[in-house]
Amino acid sequence: MYDEQVPVLIVGGGPVGLSAAVFLARRGIKPLLVEKRDGIFQLPRASGLNARTLEIFRIAGLRPEIRALEMDDSHACFEGGMLRTSTFSDIDNAEVLSVPTLDGPSISPERVMACGQQHYEKVLLKKAREYGADVRFNTRLVSFAQDDDGVTATIKDTLTSRQRAVRARYLIGADGYRGRIRHRLRIGCTGRNIIFHSLSIYFRAPELDTLLKRRKFIVCYATAPDVSTALSHLHGTDPWLIAVLYHPDRGESPADFTDERCADIIRVAAGKTDLNVEVVDKVPWEATELVADRFRSGRVFLAGDAAHVYPPAGGFGANSGIQDAYDLTWKIAAVLAGWGDDALLDTYETERRPVALAAAKQATLGTRTFRRQTSDEHRAADLLSVTLGYRYRSHTATSTENQQVLKLKFELTGEPGTRAPHVWLEHNGRRISTIDLFWDSFVLLIGPKGNKWAQIATQLASHTPVPLRVQQIGGTQGLLPIDHDWLTAYGIEPNGAVLVRPDGFVAWRSVGFDPNTVLAEVLDHAAGHGAMSSERTAQ
Ligand SMILES: Cc1cc2nc3c(=O)[nH]c(=O)nc-3n(C[C@H](O)[C@H](O)[C@H](O)COP(=O)(O)OP(=O)(O)OC[C@H]3O[C@@H](n4cnc5c(N)ncnc54)[C@H](O)[C@@H]3O)c2cc1C
Repeated sequence: MYDEQVPVLIVGGGPVGLSAAVFLARRGIKPLLVEKRDGIFQLPRASGLNARTLEIFRIAGLRPEIRALEMDDSHACFEGGMLRTSTFSDIDNAEVLSVPTLDGPSISPERVMACGQQHYEKVLLKKAREYGADVRFNTRLVSFAQDDDGVTATIKDTLTSRQRAVRARYLIGADGYRGRIRHRLRIGCTGRNIIFHSLSIYFRAPELDTLLKRRKFIVCYATAPDVSTALSHLHGTDPWLIAVLYHPDRGESPADFTDERCADIIRVAAGKTDLNVEVVDKVPWEATELVADRFRSGRVFLAGDAAHVYPPAGGFGANSGIQDAYDLTWKIAAVLAGWGDDALLDTYETERRPVALAAAKQATLGTRTFRRQTSDEHRAADLLSVTLGYRYRSHTATSTENQQVLKLKFELTGEPGTRAPHVWLEHNGRRISTIDLFWDSFVLLIGPKGNKWAQIATQLASHTPVPLRVQQIGGTQGLLPIDHDWLTAYGIEPNGAVLVRPDGFVAWRSVGFDPNTVLAEVLDHAAGHGAMSSERTAQ
């Protein structure tokens, strides 16, 4: 009846679909990924990978290869912030519009970096295949239908036109902003739709870096008369990327921007009429703010641009999509392995949709800040707050239902629902991060005097189907914190404990609970089985 059966069918081979394939395959679930294009998209597109995305790549075993792709001095560009100047020749008088709060060794073992999306997608593709995912290009999803037990999809080889019927337990729609899966599910969107239309112009101008006095920045706006452009340094200098606005409501279209006109715009923005410019490519795009009303429909999940699109400020697009994939895949793996309940899959939407709505709002606020259209009461949150400091308000991360998704100022203190704080540790003479401990199981971190927790948890781990590891920090046999007090970082006492999920988010922490009774209930709850009694949910 079916030509093939797979545990998970992923539609879309952009950064989000490829990441989902890597994460699932590394967890032992071998997905089929179909992509209608004939290979990796060749233009740079999203260039900034934030610290959280890099933490995820680190845990998934991609770090060395992704880090090797870092554009020269890319961190210096982030530190240079957002600039505004009349022309690029006048860079010395540029106004600094904003400098993002960045990562650092006390916040994360990883740092934000820039590299072209087409480069890191190659690593994702290679790793997905290496870990056992079946990635097929020139293959389009034609249709799908779901029932109580799975999804039946028709896929088509676009070279031979041959169709195949695939049966999957779950389908991940990572088919991008223009993908059809969301429409077929009749899921609507919330947001402001198109905010502005832009054209990315990729060009070569060998003298431009000298003209800019080798100044590093994220983006530099030029406000010379008759041009309104934004030059990105994060996309590199060979080619450079400049974005111009166009206005369809005034009858303008990308076709109006001939290579000659683009070169003239670049020369005016540069303040150098004889600048040597070669236009390489042009890509129109829209700054759009839309978030799908649902991220799950039965056995089908939306992730990445298929679920949300933001204006470019902050560079949240690809990053938040990869973080969707990370949240979703450990849950699918848990359910397929038999220890996660179907209710755990509902928490994908409960957790990721509010984060997407918050990121959409921040990206729009960021865009207004650069255009000076915002006031203090609509101040954007720290970049780090959006990329690392968000909070999941699901029922698996206890006692967080009424708390905000984002704080204006970045702060991580081990509260349930937030990313477990990073602390450097010594492990057999090697320096590792707490972040490195979280991947394939729940981890109960216990304090130096938490032996009672260790006893109970070890006993529980021997018979519960939910994978649980016990890790003492700071005891006689435990890992040793290197530079700061991990108990303060996680907000517990020396005899306390913190339960961290496989994706590195805090599920629960102890303050004054009886280890004999509480841990089994907390673990069961965190795997999606049933609700917690309210007296168990603290802080
Ligand atoms: C020109 C451009 C510039 C950008 N610049 C930036 C930037 O500077 N910073 C930033 O953060 N973001 C940027 N973005 C956005 C960023 O690239 C996206 O957020 C990111 O690519 C989303 O990844 P995704 O995997 O969800 O979707 P996509 O990358 O869109 O991938 C979806 C894939 O699904 C495939 N697909 C669709 N339907 C089917 C089907 N039926 N069968 C099989 N395959 C299908 C498509 O071919 C596509 O490859 C840019 C986007 C564009 C287009």
